Order: sequence, then C-alpha cells, then structure tokens
Amino acid sequence: MYKIGLTGGIGSGKSKVADMLAHWGAAIIDTDVIAHELTAPGGEAIEPIRHQFGPGVIAPTGALDRQAMRELAFESPGARQQLEAILHPMIGLLTQKRAQEADGCYLVFVVPLLVESGRWRERVDRICVVDCDPDTQVRRVQARSGLTSEAIGRIMSAQATREARLAAADDVVLNDGRTDIDELTRRVRELHDFWCAQARQAGSGS
Ligand code: ADP
Repeated sequence: MYKIGLTGGIGSGKSKVADMLAHWGAAIIDTDVIAHELTAPGGEAIEPIRHQFGPGVIAPTGALDRQAMRELAFESPGARQQLEAILHPMIGLLTQKRAQEADGCYLVFVVPLLVESGRWRERVDRICVVDCDPDTQVRRVQARSGLTSEAIGRIMSAQATREARLAAADDVVLNDGRTDIDELTRRVRELHDFWCAQARQAGSGS
C-alpha cells in the first residue's frame, strides 16, 4: 500500500487531520492510540511496566498512571528510556500487524515522534507535517488536557523543533492559530486527492 507518515508536535492537529483522512477512506494507524491500548487496564505493557517501576505508576483502574509516569521520567531521565524499551517493540509489532491487515486507498501512520525516531523515512512514501506555532499548541493542549503550560512546555522541549519537522516534510498542512476548520478541511482534502492519485499510480506500476 502507498504509505504516508503523518506527524506534528503535540496539539498541532494530527488527530484532527487523521480523522478527516479516515472519513474519506484512508486507513489510519495511530501509534499513540496503540500506546494507549497497551497501557490501558489489562494492556500488554502493564505488567512489564509494573515490574520495572513498581505499583506507584499504575492507577487504581489498572491503567498506566500517566501523570505519575511523567513525573518519574522528569526526575530520572533513565526512566523514560526504560519505558520506551518496554513500549517501542510492542508498538512496532502491533503497527506491523495492523499495517498488514489495513484496508483503504492508502495507509497513514500517525507518529508523533516520526522526525525524532529517524527510522520512518524509509518506511513511508511521503512524510506529512502538521505545522503549528508553539503558542497555539500550548493553548490547544491546555484546553484539551488541563495540563499546566509548564508541563506542556516540557513535553514540547523533548520534541523536535518546528524547523526540524518542516525540514523533513514532503507535504505540509498549516494548522496554526489563524487556520479555521474550513481552511484546514480544504487543504487536507487537496492532499487526500493527491495521495489517492499517487497511490493509484504506484498501484498501476507506472
Ligand atoms: P494532536 O493530535 O496533534 O495532539 P489534535 O488533533 O488532538 O492534536 O488537536 C488538538 C486540539 O486542538 C483538539 O482539541 C482539536 O480539536 C483542536 N484543534 C485542532 N485544529 C484546530 C483548528 N484548526 N481550529 C480549532 N481547533 C483545532
């Protein structure tokens, strides 16, 4: 299948863009959604995480306590790597499995840290970046999650810069503070039509 890697900073609008593409017939695999499944109550990663970090990072519901984990990762940088060592191989396997089962006019991998991980370039035909100014990112994430601007700032500083992401992009969707939903929809539709045409061309072997 023709493959798109969709990325962007936290709050840039990746999920919103992915929802539009799914609605028009693209197959979507969101690595964040997979990570949430793995760390939901009964998720495959819960026992390895409990074993590694102790019961303090597991909420009473049996899910990963994200807040506790974030604090732990902030206090000890090694914890973040240990968590990634547990999660990344599981995310990789599930992503592969779902890609094999995917059905759509093309396949979109939504990967928040695509530019940072460096392994995606060769796995996708095009990289699409949802581009947003940092102030708008903070505002959106605050409205969505209630995290403090300091906590959001910490997450953002662990992510690639806007410039680094744009440098890796084949296609860009501008979704900053001045972009309304109609304008976003128009731009995403334009890209969807382009990718469908590319996918058809790739599929016909020409
Ligand atoms: P990401 O997946 O990149 O973290 P989301 O797609 O979840 O970002 O978007 C973050 C929040 O901002 C969501 O609540 C979303 O509905 C909202 N949002 C995204 N783009 C726009 C826009 N152009 N106008 C208004 N709200 C937006």
